[in-house]
Amino acid sequence: MYLKTLHLQQFRNYSDQKVAFDAPKTILVGDNAQGKSNLLEAVELLSTLKSHRVSRDRELILDTQDNGQITGNLERETGRIELGLILRSKARRTVLLNSQSLRRQLDFLSILNVVQFSSLDLELVRGSPERRRSWIDRLLVQLEPVYAYILQQYYQVLRQRNALLKTARSQSHSSGEEHSQKPILNSELAVWDAQLAVTGARVIRRRYRVLERLIPLAQTWHHLISGSTENLHLTYQPNVQVITAENTRLSALSPQDVQQAFLQKISTRTLAEQQQGTTLVGPHRDDIIFTINQTPARQYGSSGQQRTLVLALKLAELQLIEAVIGEPPLLLLDDVLAELDLSRQNQLLEAIGDRFQTLITTTHLGAFDSQWLQQTQILSVQAGK
Ligand code: ATP
Ligand code: MG
Repeated sequence: MYLKTLHLQQFRNYSDQKVAFDAPKTILVGDNAQGKSNLLEAVELLSTLKSHRVSRDRELILDTQDNGQITGNLERETGRIELGLILRSKARRTVLLNSQSLRRQLDFLSILNVVQFSSLDLELVRGSPERRRSWIDRLLVQLEPVYAYILQQYYQVLRQRNALLKTARSQSHSSGEEHSQKPILNSELAVWDAQLAVTGARVIRRRYRVLERLIPLAQTWHHLISGSTENLHLTYQPNVQVITAENTRLSALSPQDVQQAFLQKISTRTLAEQQQGTTLVGPHRDDIIFTINQTPARQYGSSGQQRTLVLALKLAELQLIEAVIGEPPLLLLDDVLAELDLSRQNQLLEAIGDRFQTLITTTHLGAFDSQWLQQTQILSVQAGK
């Protein structure tokens, strides 16, 4: 797929700017705080309807205005599509497909596919489990947009179950019955347990499935980039573990297997959940562990090793999305290319080739190979222009 044009109106520090991308690779060059990352963020929004930087639309709109708009023209093998997003500070956003307003946002997801890589992504290795869950969830949404609903349903049930546990705890505190289990709570809770297990199992099975496909790709890339001395391992660590016979593919688990394991674990944690007033079991507590030569990369990896690991993950994402969607996604590289040493830079550029449209930001062109620069479109970004 190829993003031909982008039009930013009252978006971040852009008042009105049209951009045409006329080469597979575009470099956005400019000093700090000029609008390079803002432009990539606009592309991200057209892809996922989310920004990894902020959650409120108000912050995305030019600060003197009440609404803003992003429009992009995309060329896919199936034809041309115009994607639009209208942001409003005091009302809901509008999502446009070929100028028609869409009722279901789900239909907008996975039309434009992107893989992003910015220095923030190092948090994938260094940060909390929440970062890794949201990474895998975002990837899943791109591969299978309905996952956005599946996740939403799970979190809805989770919130309701937490509210019930919290209320019950405060009631038992005030009546001094710390450890007694209330019959009303138990029967009410059982309803939510069942729903949590059903919706949670959908999340767990999909996470298993995507990681099973992603892991070998990431390992291959990692081998290639780091040389063969380092072995990368990724392990999905679901909070609800399903015990299976040896050699069973975990992604092939039936929904019932997972639900059963889920309910089983809940039954062992009931007292703790009632004491703490929150749900302790479920995929909202999953993690993914990265190790290099059997050593956890989060605590012990050097910063170069962590960077290489994330790079391998991103390349694996590109490959997986291409395989599933059937078209190469866009790659957005925010400030990371210049930070890689020349050999890794070349590895990456070679891997991307001309297949993947790539937008790259940098503060200086000096870090790049001059021959390579001749084949790229260079746009200079200054104060939102
Ligand atoms: P760096 O090289 O430091 O990463 P950049 O070119 O990527 O810089 P951006 O993050 O794209 O910088 O843009 C930051 C600029 O955008 C800042 O000057 C910031 O004040 C401005 N900005 C951000 N949000 C808004 C907004 N809603 N309205 C107006 N300006 C904004
Ligand atoms: Mg930036």
